[in-house]
Amino acid sequence: MSTDKKDIRALSKTELQDFFESQGDKRFRGDQVYEWLWNKGVHDFGDMTNISKSTRAQLEANFVINHIEVDSLQKSSDGTVKNAVKLHDGLVVESVLIPTKSRTTACVSSQVGCSLDCKFCATARLKRMRNLNPDEIYDQVVAIDRESRLYHQRPLSNIVFMGMGEPLMNYKNVLAAIEKITSEEGLGMSPKRITLSTSGVPKMIRKLADDKVKFKLAVSLHSAIQEKRETIMPFAKQFTLTDLKESLQYWYSETKQRISYEYVVWKGINDTQEDIDALIQFCKYAPSKVNLIEYNPIDDGEFQQADNAAIDTYINALEANRIPVTVRRSRGKDIDAACGQLANKH
Ligand code: SAH
Repeated sequence: MSTDKKDIRALSKTELQDFFESQGDKRFRGDQVYEWLWNKGVHDFGDMTNISKSTRAQLEANFVINHIEVDSLQKSSDGTVKNAVKLHDGLVVESVLIPTKSRTTACVSSQVGCSLDCKFCATARLKRMRNLNPDEIYDQVVAIDRESRLYHQRPLSNIVFMGMGEPLMNYKNVLAAIEKITSEEGLGMSPKRITLSTSGVPKMIRKLADDKVKFKLAVSLHSAIQEKRETIMPFAKQFTLTDLKESLQYWYSETKQRISYEYVVWKGINDTQEDIDALIQFCKYAPSKVNLIEYNPIDDGEFQQADNAAIDTYINALEANRIPVTVRRSRGKDIDAACGQLANKH
Protein backbone atom coordinates (compact mmCIF):
# COMPACT_ATOMS: atom_id res chain seq x y z
CA MET A 1 0.00 0.00 0.00
CA SER A 2 1.60 3.28 -0.97
CA THR A 3 -0.17 6.42 0.05
CA ASP A 4 0.58 9.90 1.32
CA LYS A 5 -2.31 9.82 3.72
CA LYS A 6 -1.44 9.91 7.38
CA ASP A 7 -1.97 6.92 9.64
CA ILE A 8 -4.86 8.01 11.81
CA ARG A 9 -3.60 6.04 14.79
CA ALA A 10 -0.51 8.24 14.93
CA LEU A 11 -2.84 11.05 16.10
CA SER A 12 -3.56 11.75 19.75
CA LYS A 13 -7.11 12.26 20.89
CA THR A 14 -6.60 16.02 20.96
CA GLU A 15 -5.26 15.96 17.41
CA LEU A 16 -8.33 14.02 16.30
CA GLN A 17 -10.59 16.56 17.99
CA ASP A 18 -8.61 19.36 16.30
CA PHE A 19 -9.08 17.70 12.94
CA PHE A 20 -12.84 17.65 13.28
CA GLU A 21 -12.93 21.21 14.51
CA SER A 22 -10.87 22.31 11.52
CA GLN A 23 -13.46 20.63 9.30
CA GLY A 24 -16.25 22.61 10.95
CA ASP A 25 -17.46 19.56 12.87
CA LYS A 26 -17.79 18.96 16.61
CA ARG A 27 -14.70 18.13 18.67
CA PHE A 28 -16.72 15.31 20.19
CA ARG A 29 -16.52 13.48 16.87
CA GLY A 30 -12.84 12.97 17.70
CA ASP A 31 -13.80 11.11 20.87
CA GLN A 32 -16.12 8.84 18.93
CA VAL A 33 -13.47 7.98 16.36
CA TYR A 34 -10.88 7.50 19.10
CA GLU A 35 -13.16 4.94 20.74
CA TRP A 36 -13.54 3.02 17.48
CA LEU A 37 -9.80 2.96 17.00
CA TRP A 38 -8.54 2.18 20.48
CA ASN A 39 -11.43 0.57 22.35
CA LYS A 40 -13.07 -1.43 19.58
CA GLY A 41 -9.91 -1.90 17.52
CA VAL A 42 -11.53 -1.43 14.09
CA HIS A 43 -9.34 -1.39 10.98
CA ASP A 44 -11.90 0.03 8.59
CA PHE A 45 -13.62 3.42 8.61
CA GLY A 46 -16.71 1.62 7.25
CA ASP A 47 -17.09 -0.19 10.59
CA MET A 48 -17.57 3.07 12.51
CA THR A 49 -21.32 2.72 12.53
CA ASN A 50 -22.25 5.77 14.62
CA ILE A 51 -20.29 8.05 12.27
CA SER A 52 -22.20 9.43 9.31
CA LYS A 53 -21.37 8.26 5.81
CA SER A 54 -20.11 11.68 4.77
CA THR A 55 -17.82 11.92 7.79
CA ARG A 56 -16.45 8.46 7.09
CA ALA A 57 -15.75 9.53 3.52
CA GLN A 58 -13.96 12.58 4.84
CA LEU A 59 -11.80 10.36 7.08
CA GLU A 60 -11.11 8.06 4.18
CA ALA A 61 -9.95 11.01 2.10
CA ASN A 62 -7.49 12.17 4.75
CA PHE A 63 -6.25 9.10 6.58
CA VAL A 64 -5.47 5.42 6.44
CA ILE A 65 -5.65 2.92 9.29
CA ASN A 66 -2.41 1.01 8.98
CA HIS A 67 -2.87 -2.35 10.61
CA ILE A 68 -1.43 -5.81 11.02
CA GLU A 69 -2.59 -8.90 9.20
CA VAL A 70 -2.32 -12.30 10.87
CA ASP A 71 -0.61 -14.10 8.04
CA SER A 72 -0.32 -17.64 9.22
CA LEU A 73 -1.40 -19.26 12.38
CA GLN A 74 0.20 -22.38 13.83
CA LYS A 75 -1.35 -24.40 16.64
CA SER A 76 0.72 -26.46 19.03
CA SER A 77 -0.48 -29.74 20.53
CA ASP A 78 -0.49 -27.98 23.92
CA GLY A 79 -2.93 -25.27 22.79
CA THR A 80 -0.29 -22.61 22.17
CA VAL A 81 -0.97 -20.59 19.03
CA LYS A 82 1.71 -18.70 17.11
CA ASN A 83 0.79 -15.85 14.79
CA ALA A 84 3.00 -14.62 12.00
CA VAL A 85 2.02 -10.99 11.98
CA LYS A 86 2.45 -9.04 8.76
CA LEU A 87 2.98 -5.31 9.21
CA HIS A 88 1.74 -2.66 6.79
CA ASP A 89 5.17 -2.46 5.12
CA GLY A 90 5.42 -6.20 4.61
CA LEU A 91 7.79 -6.97 7.50
CA VAL A 92 6.83 -9.83 9.76
CA VAL A 93 6.95 -10.37 13.53
CA GLU A 94 5.53 -13.15 15.66
CA SER A 95 3.24 -13.24 18.64
CA VAL A 96 2.07 -16.16 20.73
CA LEU A 97 -1.07 -17.10 22.66
CA ILE A 98 -0.27 -19.26 25.68
CA PRO A 99 -3.23 -20.86 27.44
CA THR A 100 -3.04 -22.42 30.90
CA LYS A 101 -5.87 -23.63 33.16
CA SER A 102 -6.35 -20.28 34.78
CA ARG A 103 -5.15 -17.72 32.26
CA THR A 104 -4.46 -16.87 28.66
CA THR A 105 -1.28 -14.96 28.03
CA ALA A 106 -0.28 -13.00 24.94
CA CYS A 107 3.43 -12.91 24.25
CA VAL A 108 3.99 -9.89 22.00
CA SER A 109 6.88 -8.48 19.98
CA SER A 110 8.21 -4.95 20.33
CA GLN A 111 10.71 -4.77 17.45
CA VAL A 112 11.25 -6.37 14.05
CA GLY A 113 14.33 -8.43 14.86
CA CYS A 114 16.46 -7.38 17.82
CA SER A 115 19.42 -5.10 18.36
CA LEU A 116 20.85 -7.21 21.17
CA ASP A 117 23.06 -10.22 20.70
CA CYS A 118 22.16 -12.95 23.19
CA LYS A 119 24.00 -16.04 21.98
CA PHE A 120 21.20 -18.42 22.92
CA CYS A 121 18.30 -16.59 21.26
CA ALA A 122 17.07 -17.18 17.72
CA THR A 123 15.70 -13.66 17.37
CA ALA A 124 19.19 -12.23 17.97
CA ARG A 125 20.23 -13.70 14.63
CA LEU A 126 17.79 -11.45 12.81
CA LYS A 127 18.87 -7.94 12.06
CA ARG A 128 16.88 -5.31 13.85
CA MET A 129 14.86 -3.76 11.05
CA ARG A 130 12.75 -1.27 12.96
CA ASN A 131 10.75 -0.56 16.07
CA LEU A 132 7.08 -1.42 16.17
CA ASN A 133 4.59 1.43 16.40
CA PRO A 134 2.14 1.58 19.30
CA ASP A 135 -0.73 0.44 17.07
CA GLU A 136 1.27 -2.58 15.88
CA ILE A 137 1.79 -3.71 19.46
CA TYR A 138 -1.83 -2.96 20.33
CA ASP A 139 -3.05 -4.94 17.29
CA GLN A 140 -1.12 -8.03 18.37
CA VAL A 141 -2.96 -7.91 21.70
CA VAL A 142 -6.36 -7.48 20.05
CA ALA A 143 -5.66 -10.35 17.63
CA ILE A 144 -4.71 -12.69 20.46
CA ASP A 145 -7.70 -11.63 22.54
CA ARG A 146 -9.95 -12.60 19.61
CA GLU A 147 -8.18 -15.95 19.24
CA SER A 148 -8.47 -16.59 22.97
CA ARG A 149 -12.23 -16.00 22.81
CA LEU A 150 -12.51 -18.18 19.72
CA TYR A 151 -10.36 -21.13 20.79
CA HIS A 152 -10.61 -20.98 24.57
CA GLN A 153 -13.95 -19.20 25.14
CA ARG A 154 -12.42 -16.57 27.39
CA PRO A 155 -10.75 -13.19 26.98
CA LEU A 156 -7.05 -12.64 27.17
CA SER A 157 -5.93 -12.26 30.79
CA ASN A 158 -2.20 -11.41 30.68
CA ILE A 159 0.40 -9.86 28.41
CA VAL A 160 4.14 -10.43 28.41
CA PHE A 161 6.61 -8.44 26.33
CA MET A 162 8.72 -11.51 25.68
CA GLY A 163 8.36 -11.82 21.93
CA MET A 164 10.82 -10.45 19.42
CA GLY A 165 12.87 -7.42 20.33
CA GLU A 166 14.06 -5.51 23.35
CA PRO A 167 11.11 -3.44 24.63
CA LEU A 168 13.32 -0.91 26.42
CA MET A 169 15.06 -0.12 23.13
CA ASN A 170 11.63 0.95 21.86
CA TYR A 171 10.63 2.70 25.05
CA LYS A 172 8.30 5.40 23.80
CA ASN A 173 6.19 3.18 21.57
CA VAL A 174 5.97 0.33 24.07
CA LEU A 175 4.74 2.69 26.77
CA ALA A 176 2.30 4.33 24.37
CA ALA A 177 0.93 0.89 23.47
CA ILE A 178 0.57 -0.07 27.13
CA GLU A 179 -1.30 3.18 27.72
CA LYS A 180 -3.83 2.24 24.99
CA ILE A 181 -4.11 -1.28 26.39
CA THR A 182 -4.63 -0.23 30.01
CA SER A 183 -6.58 3.04 29.82
CA GLU A 184 -10.32 3.01 30.31
CA GLU A 185 -10.75 4.55 26.86
CA GLY A 186 -8.63 1.77 25.43
CA LEU A 187 -8.85 -1.89 26.32
CA GLY A 188 -9.06 -1.29 30.08
CA MET A 189 -6.71 -4.11 31.07
CA SER A 190 -5.07 -3.95 34.47
CA PRO A 191 -1.36 -3.08 34.28
CA LYS A 192 -0.79 -5.70 36.98
CA ARG A 193 -1.44 -8.28 34.30
CA ILE A 194 1.29 -6.96 32.05
CA THR A 195 4.98 -7.89 32.34
CA LEU A 196 7.73 -6.16 30.45
CA SER A 197 10.79 -8.34 30.06
CA THR A 198 14.14 -6.72 29.39
CA SER A 199 17.66 -7.95 28.89
CA GLY A 200 18.58 -5.17 31.31
CA VAL A 201 19.05 -1.63 30.04
CA PRO A 202 19.85 0.27 33.25
CA LYS A 203 19.14 3.78 32.00
CA MET A 204 15.71 2.79 30.76
CA ILE A 205 14.89 0.85 33.93
CA ARG A 206 15.51 4.08 35.82
CA LYS A 207 13.24 5.86 33.39
CA LEU A 208 10.48 3.30 34.00
CA ALA A 209 10.77 4.02 37.71
CA ASP A 210 10.66 7.79 37.10
CA ASP A 211 7.61 7.32 34.89
CA LYS A 212 5.94 5.46 37.78
CA VAL A 213 4.71 2.63 35.62
CA LYS A 214 2.31 0.14 37.16
CA PHE A 215 3.17 -2.97 35.14
CA LYS A 216 5.60 -5.66 36.23
CA LEU A 217 9.26 -5.89 35.40
CA ALA A 218 11.20 -9.02 34.48
CA VAL A 219 14.93 -9.05 33.79
CA SER A 220 16.65 -11.74 31.76
CA LEU A 221 19.62 -12.29 34.00
CA HIS A 222 21.00 -15.75 33.12
CA SER A 223 24.22 -15.06 35.00
CA ALA A 224 25.10 -12.83 37.93
CA ILE A 225 28.81 -13.04 37.15
CA GLN A 226 29.93 -10.15 34.97
CA GLU A 227 32.50 -11.98 32.77
CA LYS A 228 30.18 -14.89 32.24
CA ARG A 229 27.22 -12.73 31.39
CA GLU A 230 29.33 -10.92 28.80
CA THR A 231 30.12 -14.16 27.03
CA ILE A 232 26.49 -15.22 26.67
CA MET A 233 25.00 -11.71 26.36
CA PRO A 234 27.79 -9.58 24.83
CA PHE A 235 25.87 -6.29 25.14
CA ALA A 236 26.39 -6.71 28.91
CA LYS A 237 29.82 -5.13 28.40
CA GLN A 238 28.01 -1.81 28.04
CA PHE A 239 25.25 -2.57 30.51
CA THR A 240 27.18 -3.96 33.44
CA LEU A 241 25.74 -5.89 36.36
CA THR A 242 26.80 -3.12 38.73
CA ASP A 243 24.84 -0.57 36.75
CA LEU A 244 21.94 -3.00 36.39
CA LYS A 245 21.90 -3.66 40.13
CA GLU A 246 21.76 0.05 40.92
CA SER A 247 18.97 0.67 38.44
CA LEU A 248 16.95 -2.17 39.96
CA GLN A 249 17.42 -0.84 43.44
CA TYR A 250 16.15 2.48 42.16
CA TRP A 251 13.21 0.75 40.45
CA TYR A 252 12.26 -0.89 43.73
CA SER A 253 12.64 2.25 45.78
CA GLU A 254 10.35 4.16 43.41
CA THR A 255 7.74 1.48 42.60
CA LYS A 256 7.85 -0.94 45.55
CA GLN A 257 7.47 -3.69 42.97
CA ARG A 258 9.43 -6.89 43.20
CA ILE A 259 11.59 -7.83 40.22
CA SER A 260 11.41 -11.15 38.48
CA TYR A 261 14.68 -12.64 37.15
CA GLU A 262 14.51 -14.97 34.20
CA TYR A 263 17.25 -17.51 34.29
CA VAL A 264 18.14 -20.53 32.19
CA VAL A 265 20.58 -23.06 33.64
CA TRP A 266 22.91 -24.42 30.96
CA LYS A 267 25.20 -27.39 31.19
CA GLY A 268 28.82 -26.34 31.69
CA ILE A 269 27.94 -22.66 31.47
CA ASN A 270 26.22 -21.55 34.66
CA ASP A 271 25.64 -24.75 36.64
CA THR A 272 28.26 -24.42 39.40
CA GLN A 273 28.00 -23.41 43.03
CA GLU A 274 29.78 -20.18 42.18
CA ASP A 275 26.98 -19.31 39.75
CA ILE A 276 24.36 -20.06 42.38
CA ASP A 277 26.11 -17.99 45.03
CA ALA A 278 26.36 -15.04 42.66
CA LEU A 279 22.66 -15.28 41.81
CA ILE A 280 21.69 -15.40 45.47
CA GLN A 281 23.84 -12.37 46.19
CA PHE A 282 22.28 -10.51 43.25
CA CYS A 283 18.76 -11.35 44.46
CA LYS A 284 19.51 -9.72 47.78
CA TYR A 285 20.06 -6.30 46.23
CA ALA A 286 16.33 -5.74 45.78
CA PRO A 287 13.19 -7.78 46.53
CA SER A 288 12.93 -10.29 43.75
CA LYS A 289 12.02 -13.76 42.63
CA VAL A 290 13.63 -16.14 40.20
CA ASN A 291 11.92 -17.77 37.27
CA LEU A 292 13.96 -20.71 36.03
CA ILE A 293 13.12 -21.15 32.38
CA GLU A 294 13.53 -24.24 30.35
CA TYR A 295 16.00 -23.86 27.49
CA ASN A 296 14.62 -24.14 23.99
CA PRO A 297 17.41 -25.32 21.73
CA ILE A 298 17.93 -23.16 18.69
CA ASP A 299 20.81 -25.00 17.09
CA ASP A 300 23.40 -27.70 17.32
CA GLY A 301 24.31 -27.57 20.93
CA GLU A 302 26.69 -24.92 22.21
CA PHE A 303 23.94 -24.38 24.75
CA GLN A 304 22.29 -27.31 26.45
CA GLN A 305 19.78 -27.31 29.26
CA ALA A 306 21.41 -28.48 32.50
CA ASP A 307 20.14 -31.74 33.96
CA ASN A 308 17.44 -31.88 36.63
CA ALA A 309 19.94 -32.38 39.44
CA ALA A 310 21.63 -29.06 38.63
CA ILE A 311 18.29 -27.30 38.51
CA ASP A 312 17.25 -28.87 41.82
CA THR A 313 20.47 -27.57 43.38
CA TYR A 314 19.50 -24.07 42.23
CA ILE A 315 15.98 -24.44 43.61
CA ASN A 316 17.14 -25.73 46.98
CA ALA A 317 19.75 -23.00 47.40
CA LEU A 318 17.30 -20.24 46.46
CA GLU A 319 14.64 -21.61 48.78
CA ALA A 320 17.14 -21.94 51.62
CA ASN A 321 17.78 -18.22 51.15
CA ARG A 322 14.04 -17.44 51.07
CA ILE A 323 14.15 -16.30 47.49
CA PRO A 324 10.91 -17.28 45.75
CA VAL A 325 11.61 -19.51 42.76
CA THR A 326 9.36 -20.89 40.05
CA VAL A 327 10.14 -23.19 37.17
CA ARG A 328 8.61 -22.31 33.83
CA ARG A 329 8.00 -25.11 31.43
CA SER A 330 8.20 -24.40 27.74
CA ARG A 331 5.07 -24.10 25.70
CA GLY A 332 4.60 -24.41 21.97
CA LYS A 333 8.01 -25.95 21.29
CA ASP A 334 6.69 -28.08 18.44
CA ILE A 335 5.82 -24.94 16.47
CA ASP A 336 8.96 -22.93 17.42
CA ALA A 337 6.81 -20.63 19.53
CA ALA A 338 8.72 -21.02 22.79
CA CYS A 339 10.96 -18.34 24.34
CA GLY A 340 13.91 -17.53 22.15
CA GLN A 341 12.62 -19.51 19.19
CA LEU A 342 10.86 -16.68 17.38
CA ALA A 343 12.74 -16.21 14.14
CA ASN A 344 10.23 -15.95 11.28
CA LYS A 345 10.96 -19.43 9.98
CA HIS A 346 8.78 -19.36 6.92
N1 SAH B 1 14.54 -8.82 24.99
C1 SAH B 1 13.69 -9.15 26.09
C2 SAH B 1 12.43 -9.89 25.71
C3 SAH B 1 12.52 -11.03 24.71
S1 SAH B 1 13.24 -12.57 25.20
C4 SAH B 1 14.47 -9.93 27.13
O1 SAH B 1 15.60 -10.30 26.86
O2 SAH B 1 13.96 -10.13 28.22
C5 SAH B 1 12.15 -13.31 26.33
C6 SAH B 1 12.84 -14.30 27.27
O3 SAH B 1 13.26 -15.50 26.57
C7 SAH B 1 14.10 -13.74 27.88
O4 SAH B 1 14.14 -14.04 29.25
C8 SAH B 1 15.20 -14.50 27.15
O5 SAH B 1 16.38 -14.52 27.86
C9 SAH B 1 14.56 -15.83 26.97
N2 SAH B 1 15.19 -16.66 25.94
C10 SAH B 1 15.82 -16.26 24.83
N3 SAH B 1 16.24 -17.32 24.11
C11 SAH B 1 15.84 -18.42 24.79
C12 SAH B 1 15.92 -19.83 24.53
N4 SAH B 1 16.51 -20.31 23.44
N5 SAH B 1 15.38 -20.66 25.44
C13 SAH B 1 14.75 -20.19 26.54
N6 SAH B 1 14.62 -18.88 26.81
C14 SAH B 1 15.16 -18.01 25.96
